[in-house]
Amino acid sequence: MKDVPNTGQGCRNAPILKERGQREVFCGLTSIIWLHRKMQDAFFLVVGSRTCAHLLQSAAGVMIFAEPRFGTAILEETDLAGMADAQDELDREVGRLLERRGDIRQLFLVGSCPSEVIKLDLEKAAERLSARHGPHVRVINFSGSGIETTFTEGEDACLAAMVPGLPETQDRQLMLVGALPDVVQDQALDLLDRLGVGPVTVLPSARADDPVAVGPNAVFALTQPFLGDTHAALVRRGARHIAAPFPFGEQGTTAWLRAVADEFGVSDEKFAEVTDAPRARARRAVAQAAEALENRSVFFFPDSQLEIPLARFLTRECGMTAIEVGAPFIHKDLVGPDMDLMAEGPVFSEGQDVDLQLDRVHDAKPDLTVCGLGLANPLEAEGLTTKWAIELVFTPVHFYEQAGDLAGLFSRPLRRRDLLKLEAA
Ligand code: SF4
Repeated sequence: MKDVPNTGQGCRNAPILKERGQREVFCGLTSIIWLHRKMQDAFFLVVGSRTCAHLLQSAAGVMIFAEPRFGTAILEETDLAGMADAQDELDREVGRLLERRGDIRQLFLVGSCPSEVIKLDLEKAAERLSARHGPHVRVINFSGSGIETTFTEGEDACLAAMVPGLPETQDRQLMLVGALPDVVQDQALDLLDRLGVGPVTVLPSARADDPVAVGPNAVFALTQPFLGDTHAALVRRGARHIAAPFPFGEQGTTAWLRAVADEFGVSDEKFAEVTDAPRARARRAVAQAAEALENRSVFFFPDSQLEIPLARFLTRECGMTAIEVGAPFIHKDLVGPDMDLMAEGPVFSEGQDVDLQLDRVHDAKPDLTVCGLGLANPLEAEGLTTKWAIELVFTPVHFYEQAGDLAGLFSRPLRRRDLLKLEAA
């Protein structure tokens, strides 16, 4: 990497504290909230309980006023008790839905805790329903169950389930993998276009007919660090991963673009011509927002799997010190390049034992704690300043133009706390 020299030993080989206790994270159904916006001819049918339906309705809020692209096939007590044939009922529900909604081209059957507990075979159901409703509609299944997935893993499971059905290509091309807000995706595609990198496809694409294919001459770059299964599925299809730090902050974005540009033989001059101006803008924006972060400490509870790249951003670009960086899973193939860029020092923990981790955060008393909603309120009540991890997934934070906003998401709670202290003084 030419533009972002590594100043220390890096943390790729740092010991990892592995915990396998109780965890406090939303389930993978949550990812439907952002996925349904990306795939405009898809429908997500959760096969679950009223709890699952409530989670989706309350998380999605406004969607109740629109023609939705997700819903829940509720498993009733008779299904759960094995008194009714849930497969027959599912076939009937799907038939009714597709008859009413001719615009649906991809139907995702999404497994939940209840469907898993009664061992409802959604893979078989997807095969059967694809045969019945294809080729107009492709039926794919994945699990969003809280038993199996944390909330960002829902997207990973969804994209990984799509990969085997992608058409084969021998073309040399770049695939961007990961759901980004449209405005951010457009910025990334524009930068790549101006670098002369192409052709570029995106997974997930907006429509089922978009020409997304995979094969031995394809390379792919991940935009989200939680796509371990999708990475494995693409490698199985012969595609090659361009390993790079994730595009958070000015340095992360530059390193990510540099890795892609190197793969496509972009010259240093061209790279500088395209990136110099947005890099300078991003540096200025980060510096402004990061004033409140300088010399402060941060502690990450495992939640979104964005933790390691974000810790890299906060320590390298915002002057923070990371005390602990917890992540639900640590895939070194994905986050290794970010760990390479981090100075030694933080504890890396994988998985969670929430009580033990709460003991550690109490001992450390960090200036900022990044955690899930369930932990934030009690920690705030104890005097700790917190940032909700889920906000980082729902807010546009990738690439140059969002670098300042990303720093601002972390500095705002600290500024608020400083103001409260001033008022109380
Ligand atoms: Fe709750 Fe499981 Fe349904 Fe998620 S999938 S809402 S954890 S019951």
